[in-house]
Amino acid sequence: MRFSGWRVLREGLTGNRGWQAHWRDPDPKPEYDAVIIGGGGHGLATAYYLAKDHGMRNIAVLERGYIGGGNVGRNTTIVRANYYLPGNSEFYSHSLKLWEGLEQDLNYNAMMSQRGILNVFHNDAQRDSAVRRANAIINQGDDAEILSRDQLREMVPLLNYDNNRFPIQGALLQRRAGTARHDAVAWGFARGADQRGVDILQNCEVTGIRTEGGKVIGVETPRGLIRAGKVAMAAAGRSSQVAAMAGLTLPIESHVLQAFVSEGLKPIIDHVITFAEGHLYISQSDKGGLVFGSYLDLYASYAARGNLPMVEHTMEACMAMLPAIGKARLLRSWGGIMDMTPDGSPIIDRTPIEGLYLNAGWCYGGFKATPASGQCYAHLIATDRPHQAAAAFRLDRFETGRGLMDEEATGAQHNLH
Ligand SMILES: Cc1cc2nc3c(=O)[nH]c(=O)nc-3n(C[C@H](O)[C@H](O)[C@H](O)COP(=O)(O)OP(=O)(O)OC[C@H]3O[C@@H](n4cnc5c(N)ncnc54)[C@H](O)[C@@H]3O)c2cc1C
Repeated sequence: MRFSGWRVLREGLTGNRGWQAHWRDPDPKPEYDAVIIGGGGHGLATAYYLAKDHGMRNIAVLERGYIGGGNVGRNTTIVRANYYLPGNSEFYSHSLKLWEGLEQDLNYNAMMSQRGILNVFHNDAQRDSAVRRANAIINQGDDAEILSRDQLREMVPLLNYDNNRFPIQGALLQRRAGTARHDAVAWGFARGADQRGVDILQNCEVTGIRTEGGKVIGVETPRGLIRAGKVAMAAAGRSSQVAAMAGLTLPIESHVLQAFVSEGLKPIIDHVITFAEGHLYISQSDKGGLVFGSYLDLYASYAARGNLPMVEHTMEACMAMLPAIGKARLLRSWGGIMDMTPDGSPIIDRTPIEGLYLNAGWCYGGFKATPASGQCYAHLIATDRPHQAAAAFRLDRFETGRGLMDEEATGAQHNLH
């Protein structure tokens, strides 16, 4: 079933009776060529590109809950390509280009909105760092501009420019960055994968990974053993738990990240705005809610809910940067489990077990990576060679120390990234 303006019109005039389910609800087969653990954005995108780019169709995505119930449906939807370090920079550049053609590719409205991201800076040191970052982005072939305080004030008059502790001096702007509707991205990839024959098995938790002689042979689930020559982990915040089923210890800690949304308001913020102080980021959804978040909860946990001190911190940061927000009512808050690596950068690699692959360590930035992560992971699974856009995301960098990409220069401390 293809979506088109004509189809919407026809269905609208005939009582919307012709729409079909976006994906099937099949029973598991006893054996697949490949099984993907985790039906989040990355797992579904991987299945989609495995089928589309590599013709692998006898594959299944196993999801312990429901599609979109993990971080892919919990994030603040920011999509950007403004990374600084080689390794990350080309990967996220590649991802943004995929985003730009994704809705046409999937024939699905993911509400991609290139409204621009503003990284606000508050002092000379931060301005220097923003200029260095802008140069790196431009060298990578993407867009970046430095705005003066006056230019920024003209674009976003609502901000508090003269806060005593954090006066605003200007911003780094990337116009091609923006937001996309997160759960629609999961649904679009799920539908595209299903149309190509991929089985999406919801409520099918992987409880064990079976190996024989150093080679993976399948996964255990409450619906029985499912055999597969290739097993690909894409379990985000639960990556360490899933890898432990195969006896692997990952350089990953799981931490909670919270997000918040206000009641719906008239349009007041046209861009995504991030503040260097307080690590605050805010945008306005198409429904009018102000969507915002800040730091991790700063202790390791698998609970997808947050603590009150971080709520207080986030509200304080909001009031300091955007005092008008004090008049809005908070509608909802929630949390997601972040898979934090010591250098804040991801892993897409083989593991020491033959046929077992790892996609993890997305920290709080994996939504924007979704299409490139899926494409690069699919390439690795199908060919056993890393895709050149993800060539730096090796697992052994944490053993050797070579090739670490400490994007935020916070050192090997998970909760500071
Ligand atoms: C509050 C918040 C704000 C964020 N903001 C942004 C942002 O603005 N921009 C950005 O780029 N990123 C952001 N992120 C990060 C981003 O959401 C994640 O990095 C990304 O979604 C992780 O990949 P995923 O979509 O595959 O994860 P998930 O959707 O979590 O998918 C993993 C899936 O694996 C499943 N699973 C786990 N264990 C098993 C098992 N044993 N068997 C079967 N299935 C299993 C889970 O149920 C889950 O559905 C944010 C995250 C949060 C929580």
